[in-house]
Amino acid sequence: MKMAEELGNWRRTHYSTQVTPALDGQDVTVFGWVGSVRRQSGITFVMLNDKEGKIQVTLHRAEASAELVKRFESICEHMSIGVRGKVKKMAKSPSGAEIIPVDAKILSLPTLRPAFSVYGGNLPSLEKRLDIRTADLRREKAQAIFSIMRTVLRAVREFLQDNGYLEVVTPKLISSATEGGASLFSVLYYNKPAFLTQSPQLYKEQLVMPFEKVFEIGPAFRAEESRTQRHLSEITSVDIEEAYVDYNDIMSTLERMLRHVLKKIGSECSDEFSRLKANPPKAPAEFRSLTYDDVVSRLEKQGQTISWGEDMTGRAIAKLAKELGSFYYITDWPSSSKPFYIKPDLKNPKVCESFDLMYGPLELASGGSRVSSKSLLVRRLKEQKLRPQAFDYHLRAFDYGMPPHAGFGLGLERLMMVLTSEENIREVTLYPRDKLRLVP
Ligand code: ATP
Ligand code: MG
Repeated sequence: MKMAEELGNWRRTHYSTQVTPALDGQDVTVFGWVGSVRRQSGITFVMLNDKEGKIQVTLHRAEASAELVKRFESICEHMSIGVRGKVKKMAKSPSGAEIIPVDAKILSLPTLRPAFSVYGGNLPSLEKRLDIRTADLRREKAQAIFSIMRTVLRAVREFLQDNGYLEVVTPKLISSATEGGASLFSVLYYNKPAFLTQSPQLYKEQLVMPFEKVFEIGPAFRAEESRTQRHLSEITSVDIEEAYVDYNDIMSTLERMLRHVLKKIGSECSDEFSRLKANPPKAPAEFRSLTYDDVVSRLEKQGQTISWGEDMTGRAIAKLAKELGSFYYITDWPSSSKPFYIKPDLKNPKVCESFDLMYGPLELASGGSRVSSKSLLVRRLKEQKLRPQAFDYHLRAFDYGMPPHAGFGLGLERLMMVLTSEENIREVTLYPRDKLRLVP
C-alpha cells in the first residue's frame, strides 16, 4: 500500500477499554495506533492503542479474506489504523476480549520507527526520546503520567473553585521583572524591550482588589542558567492569591488542596500507578513546619554551616530532608532571600512572613504574606536593587486601597515529579524547555 487510506465514513463505536467480554459477538469499529505486531503461524496479533488503553486484534489468516490478510501484512508499529470486527471473549487476551477483524483501514504510513517499544523495556536516553517526543508520549508510562496530570489539574480546579477562588488569566508579556532580573527572558514588543513573565505575582496581587480570591494555572518563564533535573525554562505555575488572610492561612489552604489532590489520584488513578509501578505519596498526618532558623541550627548540629540569609539549596539540606521526608514547610525566611513583595515580620523585619513547601530536598511551592503598603513596597524594591519606576504600573494600583493579602506559587511539574516518583522534571513535561532545548 503506497498511500494512506481516507477515514471516509468510518466512525468509532467503542474505545479499547469498552471492548469487554460482555460484548461477545458484537460488531465494533475501533481506531488507534499500533503498539505491537506479532506474527505467528496462522495468526497475526495486533495490539491497538487509543487514548483509553489497548485492545488485541487477532487475525486468523486462513479464515480471513485475501484482501484483509494483505492489509495486515503491511501493519507496523505506530501506524494509525481503523478496525471493524466482532468482539470475542478470550481469557488469554490481556483484557479478556479480543477483536476478530473483518475489515481494516490503514490511516497513516509511518516511515520511521522509534528504537523502543511503547510498552517499556530498554529505553534510549531521555534526550533521544525527547527528540521524538510525540512518539515517545505514546509509551504507556508517559500516557499514565499525563493521565495523572489531568486528574491533578481537575482536582486543583475543583478544590479552588469550590472554595470560592476565581480563575483568572494574566498577561505573559510584561514590562518588568517580578522575581529579580537574572532569570528574565527578554523579547521585542513592537521594537520596545519587554519580558516573558516569571510569575503572575503582580497581577494576581492586583486582582485581589476587585475579586479577593483568585487563582491561575498558567505558563511562567525562567531563564535558568544551570541545567538540573528539577529546573525548566518554561513551567506551569499554580498560583493563588487571597485578601484578608496571612501566610499561615495560605499554608493551611495549600495543605488542604494537596490532600484533595492526593485523595483524587488515590481513588481515580490506580491503573495509572500500577502502569508506573509506583505508589502515590502518602501525606503525613499534618504537614510539619520548621522555621528557617530551626533548619539552620539543625544543620549546624550535623556539622554543616549555612551563612544566615543564604537560600537553602537541595544539596545543602539533603541530609535533613531525608529525616523530614514528605510534605513539610520551611517558614520565616530571611527577608533578603525572598522577593520584594513578601511582607517583613513587623517585630523583626530581618525575617519575613514566608514559606516554602518542601518534599524531601525538593521545593514544591513558595508563598507568603504580601506587602500591602505602597511606601513599604517602594522601600523593599530599593533594598533589592530594583527601580521603583519600572514598577510604576503596579505601584499605582496600591493608590486605590490594597487589602492585606497572601498567596503561593506551586510548580505543577515539581508536584508531578513527587506524585509520580520521577526524578527528572522533563519526564513529566510534554515539551520541556531548558538552556539546550527549544525543540520540539
Ligand atoms: P528553586 O529555588 O527551586 O529554583 P525558586 O524559589 O526560584 O525555585 P519560586 O520563584 O519560588 O522558585 O517559584 C515558585 C515555584 O515554581 C517553585 O517552588 C517551584 O515549584 C516552581 N519553579 C520555579 N522555578 C522553576 C524552574 N525553573 N523549573 C521548574 N519549576 C520551577
Ligand atoms: Mg521559591
